[in-house]
Amino acid sequence: TNTKHHHLLKNAEIILNKRFGYPTFRKGQEKIITGILQGQDTIGIMPTGGGKSICYQIPALLLEGTTIVISPLISLMKDQVDTLRELGMPATFINSSINYTEAAKRFQETRQGKHKLLYIAPERLSAGQFSAQLATLPISLVAVDEAHCISQWGHDFRPSYLDITPFLETLPDRPVVTAFTATATPEVTEDIIALLHLRNPNVCITGFNRENLSFSVVRGENKQDFLLNFLQNHREQAGIIYAATRKEVDNIFEMLGKKGYAVGRYHAGLSDQERAENQERFLYDDLKIIVATNAFGMGIDKSNVRYVIHYNMPKNMEAYYQEAGRAGRDGEPGKCILLFAPQDIYIQRFLIEQSTLEQARKEKEYQKLRAMIDYCYTPHCLRNYILHYFGEEMTETCGKCGSCDDDFDIHEITIEAQMILSCVVRMKERFGISLVADVLKGSQNKKSAQLRL
Ligand code: ADP
Ligand code: ZN
Repeated sequence: TNTKHHHLLKNAEIILNKRFGYPTFRKGQEKIITGILQGQDTIGIMPTGGGKSICYQIPALLLEGTTIVISPLISLMKDQVDTLRELGMPATFINSSINYTEAAKRFQETRQGKHKLLYIAPERLSAGQFSAQLATLPISLVAVDEAHCISQWGHDFRPSYLDITPFLETLPDRPVVTAFTATATPEVTEDIIALLHLRNPNVCITGFNRENLSFSVVRGENKQDFLLNFLQNHREQAGIIYAATRKEVDNIFEMLGKKGYAVGRYHAGLSDQERAENQERFLYDDLKIIVATNAFGMGIDKSNVRYVIHYNMPKNMEAYYQEAGRAGRDGEPGKCILLFAPQDIYIQRFLIEQSTLEQARKEKEYQKLRAMIDYCYTPHCLRNYILHYFGEEMTETCGKCGSCDDDFDIHEITIEAQMILSCVVRMKERFGISLVADVLKGSQNKKSAQLRL
């Protein structure tokens, strides 16, 4: 009823104000929280930095029993738990970073009601004994973070996520289940609902738009020159540079190091220690720039990243938006720049071809790659392109992306394109670009004469 709803909301607001120190809820938070408090399953799709955490943290404090938070971000769990405890909220985590005795202790404390929130990594659920133990807790809410990881169609599928649903089914009383993600196409959203067996869920999409970010694609320019020039004008700011391969990361890292930038690097070829150290130094502004592969970052919670430059085109729009979205989490302006060259397409095609994916899956990946390439070439508003991809329609262009800012002319070149293709066909598709160009120009050079072209 309305009064009940009002009452729940009031309680939630008190915690928001008193514990978290925020005056009002942000878009979507209120609806998600009251839904959960009324026992409804929820799927919350909110942009990075939108404030997903308190959507389950506040209900966790208000509901009886324990809330289990399933998160793949082991490196972040400790931070999140520490933050909660500083605010006086009883929380703990169990993951591979603590030993068996410590885990048993934390489990015991949770059973005794000393913790309202228990963070775990999904891998834990594959160990039968651990899930059996968990099932003995009075669990009132299960929050699944980064829920797109359960979907094969998402960009970061993690098989361990498939253990969540069987675990839920072993529970004597089914808790409320709530899933969160920042990147889900309508298809992935459906998949999350189906795979987690969400019951009549409250689907809350607050929109993907990140007003404070500006997008641009740089084509046909020397990437290195562009980068050096850009950095020179942004010396004081923190930024991330993503590159497609470890080798490329190393090259950029060295180049910037030689130029005297406070730069670090991050990729899977480095030791755990070096990675952790670089990440830490970047978080604390000791390093201004981090050059990384896509191994860097899910859940990177650095608020003052002012730019994210992609030195290469990533594999798809989901990956791009998530990585670019690490800029401007504090709400201040952030620049998202993609440096595109046609070779990037070959790298990504190669990676799909080399992968062990099934054929149907590969085709899906090619399709997503296609949409990524289209982003690099579209003359239309880039923000609208992104939002459309995620199923959101905008009626107006953003006015501040690379396309909106550009005053290029559009020329009709259909006839020329037809002539070029027809020439290629008539040369039986046997020659490279320069000979085709020669023939089209009517060149009398030796080779075309010899071949009688
Ligand atoms: P994400 O959706 O990326 O997980 P977080 O939950 O980490 O986002 O929240 C992002 C930032 O927004 C955090 O610093 C958080 O404290 C802040 N925040 C969340 N909700 C509110 C609110 N209602 N009012 C003000 N700040 C908020
Ligand atoms: Zn635009």
